[in-house]
Amino acid sequence: ERTPVVTIDGPSGAGKGTICFLLAKRLGWQLLDSGAIYRVLALAAMHHDVELANEEELSLLAAHLDVQFLPGTDSDGVKVILEGEDVTTEIRTQECSNSASKVAAFPRVREALLRRQRAFKTEAGLIADGRDMGTVVFPEAPVKIFLTASAQERAERRFNQLQGKGFDVKIGRLLAEIIERDERDMNRSVAPLKPADDALVVDTTGIDIESVLNITIEHIERNI
Ligand code: C5P
Repeated sequence: ERTPVVTIDGPSGAGKGTICFLLAKRLGWQLLDSGAIYRVLALAAMHHDVELANEEELSLLAAHLDVQFLPGTDSDGVKVILEGEDVTTEIRTQECSNSASKVAAFPRVREALLRRQRAFKTEAGLIADGRDMGTVVFPEAPVKIFLTASAQERAERRFNQLQGKGFDVKIGRLLAEIIERDERDMNRSVAPLKPADDALVVDTTGIDIESVLNITIEHIERNI
């Protein structure tokens, strides 16, 4: 096992997306945004009229999903092409976030997406962003980090991020949805959101991006 893999898990709005993008850029490594895979699956389900409760059809769709992930241009991370169409912005809506966490709760859906996620490993190295990167997808990773922050702060970060992209959002509703989504992610039977036993847990409440980046880089360099 030569490929250095660094897993970064945590709840939504903890700053994983930004940190992972910056880390991958700094190190010259591949980036896996696993949340984008669940988001694009939810979007494909809507396009193909597959019910969000139909595990059988969702897992078939997951296995045959025609999706490409291209390097992104800014801290959005990845550019996502679904069946030839650029859906980079579309998968970031609140509706898509909520649908993604519903489809992600099905064991067979997760199973169908495992190989696709592991294929992101390249010789150079991989930064894997998600909920179960360190616990399920890359349990052998030499460096595991769990980023978290208070729900209030995570809602504020999401608010600023979405507003910056021109989405019309309300902070109260965002907070409620973040809490609901985390509950679902933490309490599902398969691959629940939790730190791996050997993960470094970093609470980023009140800490700026630059400092979080420094903490993570130092931890990676000491352990890889
Ligand atoms: O990280 P992001 O907010 O884009 O993820 C969207 C949803 O996809 C999460 O709320 C979670 O339910 C699901 N997800 C997951 N496992 C991952 C990444 C995301 O279940 N590794």
